[in-house]
Amino acid sequence: MSSVEEFRAEIRGWLAAHLTGEFAGLRGRGGPGREHEVFAERLAWERHMAAEGWTCVGWPEEYGGRGASLEQQVAFHEEYALADAPARVNHIGEQLLGPTLVAFGTAEQRARFLPPIVAAEELWCQGYSEPDAGSDLANVRTRAERDDTGAWVVTGQKTWTSLAHASQWCFVVARTAPGSSRHHGLSYLLVPLDQPGVEIRPITQLTGTSEFNEVFFDGARTRADHIVGAPGEGWRVAMATLGFERGVSTLGQQVGFRRELEAVIAWAKHNGAANDPLIRDRLARAWTGLETIRCNALRILDGAASGAPGPEASIGKIFWATWHRELGELAMDVSGAAGMLAAGEPYDLDDRQRLYLFSRSDTIYAGSNEIQRDIIAERVLGLPKESRP
Ligand SMILES: Cc1cc2nc3c(=O)[nH]c(=O)nc-3n(C[C@H](O)[C@H](O)[C@H](O)COP(=O)(O)OP(=O)(O)OC[C@H]3O[C@@H](n4cnc5c(N)ncnc54)[C@H](O)[C@@H]3O)c2cc1C
Repeated sequence: MSSVEEFRAEIRGWLAAHLTGEFAGLRGRGGPGREHEVFAERLAWERHMAAEGWTCVGWPEEYGGRGASLEQQVAFHEEYALADAPARVNHIGEQLLGPTLVAFGTAEQRARFLPPIVAAEELWCQGYSEPDAGSDLANVRTRAERDDTGAWVVTGQKTWTSLAHASQWCFVVARTAPGSSRHHGLSYLLVPLDQPGVEIRPITQLTGTSEFNEVFFDGARTRADHIVGAPGEGWRVAMATLGFERGVSTLGQQVGFRRELEAVIAWAKHNGAANDPLIRDRLARAWTGLETIRCNALRILDGAASGAPGPEASIGKIFWATWHRELGELAMDVSGAAGMLAAGEPYDLDDRQRLYLFSRSDTIYAGSNEIQRDIIAERVLGLPKESRP
């Protein structure tokens, strides 16, 4: 048996043995549109996984991971999804900040911040976007300056900060060189959220739930050495984090996509929509599209030694985001008129409605489709740069 098959068998057996008792009810809970569900219980599950060595499996062993190969990580995520295990609560710490600290952090930063991520004791959020800095992230206005002691004092507003309300820490892109512009003069700061200078306001979605927030920094402080990379080097570090977000981090979703597609097919058979030749055609296209996504993801990630692929990762991001958004539209067409009704108050969405609404965000976060096309044009194809103000 290969090491991948052994690894797969090990995680499959572990999940079967441990998603029982107090954790049995967590199967299928959480995820996009359902992050509010049983959060405390999912955190307890995550800590249980940590105690048994099943968090951060792709990290090097010296930092508390298992040093799992790419194939092993794929197997882990596939088995996790197949077991219908609950959505993870510290995805941002494990998949985004951790690899960034391994690549760019100091020995002290790794020693301080990596163990609590492995243990799921500290949760992280991503402080990039601002009201006037989304796609155009270089327009960041949040600023940070040093006080007499050298500590950083942060002032500004972030928005769309996923899970900030549940996090203890935020990695913040802030302008530290007064008078600088665009991607110059930015720094990547690690800021504790539990302090007087931080206010977190949840943004209520149409569904009545809140998954992301506005985060206001008003003289919030963080230690002088809680900066990743040198002052002014934040853009390079921030882009590396985005590479992780578009890279290995996406492995887990493939099996989830397959399960969603299977559910849509099952519903189409159940309500007769599958008899419509156009629906059948779209279902078949969805199936082949998913196969293409899987092959493409493995092709792009294979050889990305650090797990942070280059600009080619944008091709995969467009593929899967567009595919998933179209699956949401197909799910609604399969539901027919019944898809327009939501039961309960506040809204209680069924799985197809949730898929439709939340897949709309896939072509926006981690860089919109238009931005991915810019990246492919400029950095993969070498076309002339888009003119910018
Ligand atoms: C579910 C979800 C979770 C998120 N979580 C986080 C988080 O945790 N932390 C965080 O920092 N941010 C987060 N975001 C924010 C996300 O990064 C931004 O929404 C995204 O970068 C787009 O920015 P914007 O919303 O300001 O839209 P804009 O940048 O204003 O874009 C509006 C439209 O204009 C298009 N556009 C913009 N510039 C160009 C261009 N140069 N060429 C062609 N078209 C262009 C865009 O594609 C888009 O269609 C999240 C977003 C979503 C949807």
